[in-house]
Amino acid sequence: MKFSHSRGAYHSRSGNSNGSFVRFLPLGGMGNVTRNLYVYEYIDSKNPSASGAIVVDCGIGFPEEDMLGVDLVLPDISYLLENRVKVWGVLITHGHMDHIGAIPFLVPQLKAPVFATRLTCGFIKEELEDRDVKNCQVNEITYGQVLNLGSFEASFLRLSHSVPDAAGIVIKSPAGTFFHTGDFKFDWTPVMPGQTPQVSRLAQLGDQGVRMLVSDCLRIENPGYTLPERAISETFEQAMRQAKGRVLITTFSSNISRIQQALDSSKKFGRKVGFLGRSMESYTQVASKLGYLDLKKKDIVEPEALNSLRPNQQTLLVAGSQGQRFSALARIVRGEHRLVQIKKTDTVIFSSDSIPGNEASVNAVIDELVLSGARVIYFETTSPLHVSGHASREELKLMIALTRPECVVPISGSFRHMELMADLAQEMGVASQKTFVLKNGESLEITDSQITRGPLYGFKDVLMDGAVIGEVGKLILEDRKILSDDGLIVVVVLLSNASKSVKLVDIVTRGFVYEEGDKSKSLRDGLRAAINRSLEDTKADWGNYQKVDRILANSLSNHVFKKTNLRPMILPVVVRD
Ligand SMILES: [Zn+2]
Repeated sequence: MKFSHSRGAYHSRSGNSNGSFVRFLPLGGMGNVTRNLYVYEYIDSKNPSASGAIVVDCGIGFPEEDMLGVDLVLPDISYLLENRVKVWGVLITHGHMDHIGAIPFLVPQLKAPVFATRLTCGFIKEELEDRDVKNCQVNEITYGQVLNLGSFEASFLRLSHSVPDAAGIVIKSPAGTFFHTGDFKFDWTPVMPGQTPQVSRLAQLGDQGVRMLVSDCLRIENPGYTLPERAISETFEQAMRQAKGRVLITTFSSNISRIQQALDSSKKFGRKVGFLGRSMESYTQVASKLGYLDLKKKDIVEPEALNSLRPNQQTLLVAGSQGQRFSALARIVRGEHRLVQIKKTDTVIFSSDSIPGNEASVNAVIDELVLSGARVIYFETTSPLHVSGHASREELKLMIALTRPECVVPISGSFRHMELMADLAQEMGVASQKTFVLKNGESLEITDSQITRGPLYGFKDVLMDGAVIGEVGKLILEDRKILSDDGLIVVVVLLSNASKSVKLVDIVTRGFVYEEGDKSKSLRDGLRAAINRSLEDTKADWGNYQKVDRILANSLSNHVFKKTNLRPMILPVVVRD
């Protein structure tokens, strides 16, 4: 992706005349939307005990197409670990996985307490329990409560998002005040009472002076305002009015307000609600226990008891809106769910959009449902079925207008969104050398008089495969690519040092096209000849095990490529007598 360095002033000197400054360093979340993690570090060279950092958000990312077999991507916290930066606290803006998902893996290494609002804490504790992580202290705080964290003071400010209890974070430092928005929009009519964004506090902040606004920008291409969450109710009710049988609704399991609307609409039409899928069950349970979901026993039905109700008395809230292969919805579609099969009279509502990269799996699930005869209502055909949790352009303007920052740093977007946000800030009067589009690992240095670019720190993708973190390197990914493209050939050779003879014992192939038939036989003959040729010429090297492996792999690989135009992985196994 093209990246411009044109914005923002560079500055070679670190710190101010006193040698103290705040370093802002994103270690995730720049240019790829997910795995958010941002460091605010105070550095005081005269008084090292006052030096330390707070971290905002600790989320996971999702693997890109070429990261074969990788389950998750984590932020890279090696800067904090290698420099032994003292971390006074990890502050979490809201309960989405790209903001909390890495807590079980990274926070125990940082040895810092976590702070978040009530519902976010509930989701974090669920994650920690799920991963059986015990050494992580999670503290619930209220909006406006002041946290003293080393040289910083922080407080949470309520904003709207697609999960309740979202917050922006006001960070006061010796170099001035910063406002970190997290993901946000302004929803003036929230589904849940008491969740209205605290705009008066934003305006107050603006009056007091904000040095740096670190802001969400994901929906900047969308003109106007993002629709309020409430807009969905009408669509649910219309679908339930028309439905003759069951209604199945799939959405993000953390979208508690959406789930509340599904519950309320179902109640109006005499339907009881059943929850299907682990994430749907656990998120709704946490939200209900903490008072964020009005969930009465008489309004719900256990999945096992569904048969006691007529189809038009049932609404099913089903996990799997992204077409995830092992989700409840995908299993229902494949006919593998133990309790629910699709019927022709079913209405299935996709109350979500596809996260970029998931379109193909979502479309496949929709197609399967259509083929099975169900009525499918999805984003492209019916509006509004899903509203975004992110601010559109006019709301971003409102954020800048209220906080009136000296400098703007866009986050949580693709680079094109971040550039547009920098443009918008300039349109609204922020100086061009005070808007910064940063890459992961690229720092800013904020003294009490200047804000300038600082050094670029090393940053790599930390990949997670199963329970293994960080061990999946470039070579492993390259091997996986070769295996998936062209397959594997294992060649077993018997090498006799005494009689100086070589014999091909066996060839085993996996995922390689010439597995059987005449072509396979001629390839086998060719390989035998190639083995003999290459080893005959190098008898002097037979004592060197590695060299023999290399000679075999090269000559066999060249032979296979000449015959097939393929480059499978060649694994020579040399048995010696
Ligand atoms: Zn979010």
